[in-house]
Amino acid sequence: MKYKALKGICDILPPETYIWQHIESVAKEVFKTYGCKEIRLPIIESSEIFIRSIGETTDIVEKEMYTFQDKAGRSVTMRPEGTAPFVRAFVEHSLHNEPSPQKYYYMGPMFRYERPQAGRQRQFHQIGIEALGTDDPKIDAEVISMLMALLKRIGLKDIELEVNSIGCGICRPEYKTVVKDFLRENLEFFCEDCKRRYEINPLRILDCKVEGCIGRRQAVPSIVNLLCDDCKDHFEELQHYLQLLNVSYRINPNLVRGLDYYTRTAFEVKGKSLGAQNAVAAGGRYGSLVEEFGGPAVSGIGFAIGVERLLSLVSEGHNDYGPDIFLCFLGDEAEKKSFMLTNELRAEGLWVETAYDKSSLRSQMRRADRIKAKNVIVMGEEELKKKKVIVKNMAGKEEVETVLEGAEIIKVVQKDILSV
Ligand code: ATP
Ligand code: MG
Repeated sequence: MKYKALKGICDILPPETYIWQHIESVAKEVFKTYGCKEIRLPIIESSEIFIRSIGETTDIVEKEMYTFQDKAGRSVTMRPEGTAPFVRAFVEHSLHNEPSPQKYYYMGPMFRYERPQAGRQRQFHQIGIEALGTDDPKIDAEVISMLMALLKRIGLKDIELEVNSIGCGICRPEYKTVVKDFLRENLEFFCEDCKRRYEINPLRILDCKVEGCIGRRQAVPSIVNLLCDDCKDHFEELQHYLQLLNVSYRINPNLVRGLDYYTRTAFEVKGKSLGAQNAVAAGGRYGSLVEEFGGPAVSGIGFAIGVERLLSLVSEGHNDYGPDIFLCFLGDEAEKKSFMLTNELRAEGLWVETAYDKSSLRSQMRRADRIKAKNVIVMGEEELKKKKVIVKNMAGKEEVETVLEGAEIIKVVQKDILSV
C-alpha cells in the first residue's frame, strides 16, 4: 500500500460514523437542557498556553505534545486537551461579562504523542464542558450529574464514578510533604518517571499507570483528612448535592488527575469492562487558571469525555442504517419517473436511493438488500399506467399498494422511518 494514515491516527468510517453522530447529537441535546452553549476552538495554539496551564512536569507537556515551529519560528502545539484553549478564549473575549455562570461545551480532536494501544490514540476526540463563574459546590454536582445523565442516555451501563478533592493552594503543599515522607523509604522501587516526579511534583506519583507503582502507593494517606476547612466543607457539600441528585459515586483518595491546574473537586468515570485505559471521562475544578491567563478571579469546573473509549462501551448494533426507500425501475419511462420521484421524496427528508444504470431488476433488488433499504418499490409500465405501486417493507415483508404519488408513498413508509 502506497499511503497509510499516521501511526495512532485513525480514519473513522461508516457505519461507525453513525454512532459518532448519535453520541454528538445526544450530547448536544443534554447540554442544551443545562444551558451549555457551543464554543469552537482552534486546533493549534501557542505552546506556552499548554505548558503554563497543564504544568511542565505532567506527562502531557513532558512527552506527549505535538509541538513544532511555524514558518515565523513561533512554537505552536496541536491541542492535547480543551480546557487551556477554552480559558485562553474566555479571557481573550471577556466572556466573564456574560451572565454568570457561563457554561460552554466543545467537541473535537485532540493530539497526544503517546504509544498507540487499546484506548490510546495519537489523535482522539473529546466532548467537554466548562462551567465558570461560581465555586459553589452545587455546580460541581450539577456538572457531574450532567455527565452521568449523558452517559446513561448514550446507553452506558457498567460505569463507576469516582470523586475526590485535591485541595487548594493552602492545604495541598502540606499534603505533598506527607506524600513525600511516606514514599521516601520505598522510592527506589518506583519507576524512573516517579523518581523524577518525587522532587518536582510528587502528587503525580499517585497518578502513575505503571503496575509496580500502583501497588506500592496503595497505603499513601488520603488527602481527605488533610483538607483545609474550606476545602473540606466544599467536598462535603458536593457529596451532599450528589446524593440529592441520586448520583452514585465512590471516593477515590488516589485520584489526582494528570493536569496541574485542578483544585478541589476531581472526578473520573471508569468503564468496568475497559482494560488499563479505563477512564471514559474525567474532569475537575480549576480555581486560578483564568487569573493565570490574565483574566479576573473566576473559577471553573469542567470535564472531557474520551469519545473513542466511550464508543468501545456502546454495545448497541449500528449496522442497520439504510435508506428509507429504494426505487427499482423497469423501462425508460419508469427510470425517468423514479429519478424524479427520488428527488421529490428526498426534498421531504427521506433517504431514497435508485439505480443509476439499466441493470436488471434482480441486481437492483440485490443492491437494495446490500444497502439495507427499509422499503422497496418496483416501478414498471404496468405501475405507471395504473398510477399505483406496491411498497414492500423489507423487514416485515408486508406489502401495501398505494397511489404513485410522493405524498401517498410517504404516508405508507412513515411509520417505519428511523431517524439517524
Ligand atoms: P489517561 O489517564 O488515560 O492517560 P488522562 O488523564 O491523560 O487519561 P485527560 O487528559 O483527563 O486524560 O482526558 C480525558 C479523557 O480523554 C480520558 O479520560 C480519556 O477517556 C480520553 N483520552 C485521553 N488521552 C487519550 C488518548 N491518547 N487516546 C484516547 N483517549 C484519550
Ligand atoms: Mg494520559
